[in-house]
Amino acid sequence: MDLKQYITIVEDWPKPGIKFKDITTLMDNGEAYKYATDQIVEYAREKKIDLVVGPEARGFIIGCPVAYSLGVGFAPVRKEGKLPRETVKVNYGLEYGKDILTIHKDAIKPGQRVLITDDLLATGGTIDATIQLVEELGGVVAGIAFLIELTYLDGRKKLDDYDILTLMQY
Ligand code: 5GP
Repeated sequence: MDLKQYITIVEDWPKPGIKFKDITTLMDNGEAYKYATDQIVEYAREKKIDLVVGPEARGFIIGCPVAYSLGVGFAPVRKEGKLPRETVKVNYGLEYGKDILTIHKDAIKPGQRVLITDDLLATGGTIDATIQLVEELGGVVAGIAFLIELTYLDGRKKLDDYDILTLMQY
């Protein structure tokens, strides 16, 4: 299936000069969403994943159906102040500014094999921060899966030591 036909490119959003890749037109198509999810599930099976971890909010959209399909858990990574119990945190830079990401301290058991998911790899800052959280808790990042990779931003370079799956490249 050619998944790119389901991505809508929105010019000058959220800022002038940005060509935003809108994945909602893929998600609201049952066949396309299932197809994309199944590709990532197949990849995750090979990696023998124990847990899926994804950053808010679109990392949940990708990661939760994968976790459900694998019969493993999902642990959310959220902006500071959103998780109710004790967390670990990391500062990160993203394409449009700076922020702090957090995860519950007991979300990952040491040695668990983790799949990280997000909708899109741009500079790699968000996932680099997510990797730091997973590794701080003793998780093993066994794979990272995205719907989309913006190859011209070279995010892959930042994630050199990790195995990455991307379903579409721009
Ligand atoms: P990075 O941290 O790799 O620079 O940026 C990736 C993050 O920004 C992802 O969490 C992603 O959701 C968001 N993002 C940046 N650009 C786009 C875009 O064009 N489309 C979508 N859907 N998300 C984007």
